[in-house]
Amino acid sequence: MGCELIKHHCGIIGVWGVPNAAELAFHGLYSLQHRGQEAAGIVSTDGNRFYRKLGMGTVTQIFSSPTVLGSLKGSGAIGHNRYSTTGASSEFNIQPLSAVLRDGPVAIGHNGNLVNTKRIRKRLQEDGAIFQSTTDSEIIIHLMARSKKEQVRDKLLEALDEIEGAFSLVLLSDHAMYAARDPHGWRPLCIGEKDGKYIFSSESCALDLLGYSYIRDVRPGELVLVDDEGLHSHQYADGSQTHHCVFELIYFSRPDSRFGGDYIDKFRRKMGKNLAEEYPDDADIVISVPDSSNTAALGYSQRSEARFEMGLIRNHYVGRTFIQPTQTMREMGVKLKFNPVGGVLKDRKVVVVEDSIVRGTTLRKLTDLIRQAGAKEVHVRVSSPPIKHPCYYGMDFPSREELIAHTRSVEEIRKTIGVDSLGYLSVEKLLDSVPHENGENYCTACFTGEYPIPVEQDEENGSKERYEDR
Ligand code: SF4
Repeated sequence: MGCELIKHHCGIIGVWGVPNAAELAFHGLYSLQHRGQEAAGIVSTDGNRFYRKLGMGTVTQIFSSPTVLGSLKGSGAIGHNRYSTTGASSEFNIQPLSAVLRDGPVAIGHNGNLVNTKRIRKRLQEDGAIFQSTTDSEIIIHLMARSKKEQVRDKLLEALDEIEGAFSLVLLSDHAMYAARDPHGWRPLCIGEKDGKYIFSSESCALDLLGYSYIRDVRPGELVLVDDEGLHSHQYADGSQTHHCVFELIYFSRPDSRFGGDYIDKFRRKMGKNLAEEYPDDADIVISVPDSSNTAALGYSQRSEARFEMGLIRNHYVGRTFIQPTQTMREMGVKLKFNPVGGVLKDRKVVVVEDSIVRGTTLRKLTDLIRQAGAKEVHVRVSSPPIKHPCYYGMDFPSREELIAHTRSVEEIRKTIGVDSLGYLSVEKLLDSVPHENGENYCTACFTGEYPIPVEQDEENGSKERYEDR
């Protein structure tokens, strides 16, 4: 997937108890930019008012002027980086979403997809609710608005009790900040601390940047509240049957982020090593499809005889702007993004490590480029199993029909991609690469088709594919 543009889900951050909370939220979002580049927003509070800035584009494009950040006052702030997984790509869907409830304003930032929203949305609409966006996150606000409970915490708990699916969320009120994770722990969310002040973040790489210490992950089924008195935890649901998204560890999360205390780098290296054991070769060199496959390729090379080389150079500025590609740019295709290093590849038997293959079309072009650069043989090794099924928990894979592995065998895929050999990491060895010490279990549905919780069927066409709101 290092060579395919697949949309991630989102990144969230929450800051409480420091005078420049919005500035910290901005820097946190900056380090979570890989989780969403379509839109971003920050909502802050000084305890009296809420301040908000949302926009389309990257974090630096939206918060380019110091006056914008300066206008986001207060010691509490939450932020959100967005790629649309549910809800169309529109300004109405930019988060954090905010609303004024009976007893004060709230704002919410959400990562993941809910799987039972159609029924809830229909019921709410029949009851008179008017939705501003097509995101499933707005449902949480509507459920809170209708709650008869007095406290924001209790309204949120009531909403959490009703929704199903993948969610890690941060919620801001005028007197506290909340973080919650679904009982399966699909999407990551961690807690950082500095001088008795707390931050919530999708990934710990944001804590490193901000100088906060990683304390722990928000537990599956846990609601954490931070106010001026400190941090308070409430286990609102049994979180012992986890289904962490294993794709976070394969591809989404940064290798310098932590999962359960260890760096993701460690698990990706193990995937590479296991891959080398399952599919050994006598190649001259191992190269990665940068950047997401770098760590797995290093692991592969450590376990095989072949040395790791930088055979592909990536242009990091492609796909990060809203400039419409010209016809010439389209014709250049994958060359615009990757350039092979001829001196490294010429006359070599090359293993290319890729973290995953979705459609396979870009990888085919990329391996053609590697051959054109003089490689004698091209062997592809994939540090995940074949992706055969769609994801309903926050990952925007294309439809089943577009997934190259949905109906093809590995040999058919090898022929389609046009390489000398192809090997995928098995599900067993993937699970062997990730931690289980604390009873962790993982979602592997996109590989196995075994969905941990059922997905709401579309009442109109009976298909699970059309999960987008109408
Ligand atoms: S289906 Fe795949 S991408 Fe989606 S949550 Fe499960 S492991 Fe992650």
